[in-house]
Formats: sequence, C-alpha cells, structure tokens
Amino acid sequence: MGIFYKLRTGLARFMYGRNGVDQLGLSLVWVCLGLNILSALLSKLVPVVATVLYWASIALWVYVLFRMLSKDVYKRREENSKWLNLRWRLKSSHSEAKTRHADKEHKYFTCKSCKTICRVPVGKGKIVITCPKCGAKIQAKT
Ligand SMILES: [Zn+2]
Repeated sequence: MGIFYKLRTGLARFMYGRNGVDQLGLSLVWVCLGLNILSALLSKLVPVVATVLYWASIALWVYVLFRMLSKDVYKRREENSKWLNLRWRLKSSHSEAKTRHADKEHKYFTCKSCKTICRVPVGKGKIVITCPKCGAKIQAKT
C-alpha cells in the first residue's frame, strides 16, 4: 500500500455522496478563468473594475467548490440539467437559424401565439398559413 493509494481511497471516501464535477461546474470554472484573465488585463488600465472582476471570480470559485462538495446531489443535478437544457437550446437555435438562412427555396414564419416555426415554399404570392401546432392563421407574402 503506497501513499498514493491511501490518498486516492481517502479522497474517494471523502467525495462519496457528494456532487463532484459536472458540466455546470466546468463551465463555471471557464467563466472564473475568463474573469481572472480579464481582471489581470484590466489591472493597469481600470484598477477598480479589475478588483471587482477579481472578487467576482473568487466568489464564483467558492460557489464552484460548494457545488463540488455539496451533498445535496438531487438539487445540484437539477441545476446542472437546467444549464444543459439552456446550452442545448442556445446551440440548436443558432444552428437552426443558420440552416434557415441558407435555405433559399423556403420562407420561414414564426407563429405569434405558440412560437412554432412554419416553413412555406418561396414564390406562392400572398398566402394564409395555418399553424400546424395551434391552428392560428398567419398572413404572409412568399
Ligand atoms: Zn401556432
């Protein structure tokens, strides 16, 4: 039994039942690093802002540690899944907008009542679109 084995099993015992590192934690670590770098860059130019950023990053580090060591795993998982949902929505809406922009054969309209995106072919003149989800009518020019 080496000292590393003892350290590893001790750490594993300590972390048992705790949240550990998750995607939200990792993202927050990146934000912390960004704040640290920004505060280092601004320290000569605007020392007040740099100090505020520095303390904000310290507070965020404390929060990251709190989340890692938290034993309320259920709550931490909920926060993490909210973060993953938000990230996924941002990512997919950006890539979908890109594909819609590249599509020159269709026009896209967003339903005002349910926010569903309706696709219609280009060159049909003035038309009335019925939303497939909620049945609302959209007047559109293609
Ligand atoms: Zn609708």
